[in-house]
Amino acid sequence: MYVVFALVLGMCIRCGSAVPWTQQKLTHRAVTLTAEEIRSALAHTDLDQMWRRDLTPLLVTRYPGTAGSLAVQQHIKTTLGSLEAGWNVTEDSFESHTPYGPLTFTNLIATLDPSAKRRLVLACHYDSKYYPPQWHGREFQGATDSAVPCAMMLELARALDQELKAQKSAHPDLTLQLLFFDGEEAMFQWTATDSLYGSRHLAQQMESTPHPTGATDTNLLHGIDLFVLMDLIGAPGPRFGSQFSSTSRWLTRLQHIERRLHFMGQLVDHPSDVQYFWPYLPVGFVQDDHVPFLNRGVRVLHLIPTPFPSVWHTFDDNEENLDRSSIQNLNKIVQIFALEYLNARPVDPQNPQNAP
Ligand SMILES: [Zn+2]
Repeated sequence: MYVVFALVLGMCIRCGSAVPWTQQKLTHRAVTLTAEEIRSALAHTDLDQMWRRDLTPLLVTRYPGTAGSLAVQQHIKTTLGSLEAGWNVTEDSFESHTPYGPLTFTNLIATLDPSAKRRLVLACHYDSKYYPPQWHGREFQGATDSAVPCAMMLELARALDQELKAQKSAHPDLTLQLLFFDGEEAMFQWTATDSLYGSRHLAQQMESTPHPTGATDTNLLHGIDLFVLMDLIGAPGPRFGSQFSSTSRWLTRLQHIERRLHFMGQLVDHPSDVQYFWPYLPVGFVQDDHVPFLNRGVRVLHLIPTPFPSVWHTFDDNEENLDRSSIQNLNKIVQIFALEYLNARPVDPQNPQNAP
């Protein structure tokens, strides 16, 4: 009797047969990788390469409509398009009224497996804040805001390319989606209509797009298991507190991954009294790209430090003031988080057939 019950329960957890697919996110269980699997998974992440390949091209003036914005879009598309996992990259391009007149904005949406119903979403904004001509002479790089989070997402896709490729065939119902928003910053002054141009548009688009194809009562927003937004990352000593109780268990998981990697000696400049993730530290609500999704019922994990970096919205938010150690550590923590959430185990280079 006990055995039969366990088997039935096991079936439910594994295939979700008793739970509608839109509810599976609520009881989703991530795998826990062994120390050996973690070492193997992190063998490919390389901060110097990320810096050279993905961060440097992002550290340019890139507010909507600039040559820098177009170059960054191209870089993101080319990078993801070159990977073996086979990313589907689409554009959400639209015109919106701004205090400076109509402007064209472009979000980029990269989906590992568009046919998968459920998606773990990682998101950032790639635009930089606009400063009018009297400020010129110094270039606003927006290094933490948000060149680093975008580079981290590209590095994750590159470093875990083989793992993600294997995950795609092993788990057809659950995939990874990367969102790169345009127009997060206010063009003039933050208001409900002068900010979050890209995320407001994409949330609306996703809400009006049936998902899976042909569905009559579910849309792309139902497909988002968890919306992880990264912003203002790259300054020393970040502290991520909890804004939403509905997703605090995932912040707790990040805290546990941080501890596991700490004890494995995987983190640099990370003594015992340093802790990035604080699931029991309530922090105030911050207006950011998650808001249009949150307002439509999407579950959000907002990875933004409290307090903000001291260089926030100053010309000192540049490459020189970035903290390499915390970026490298966060790369590792977020990569393990993504693999575990996706139930993906690292690929054994000796035996690629042994993939999950
Ligand atoms: Zn900003």
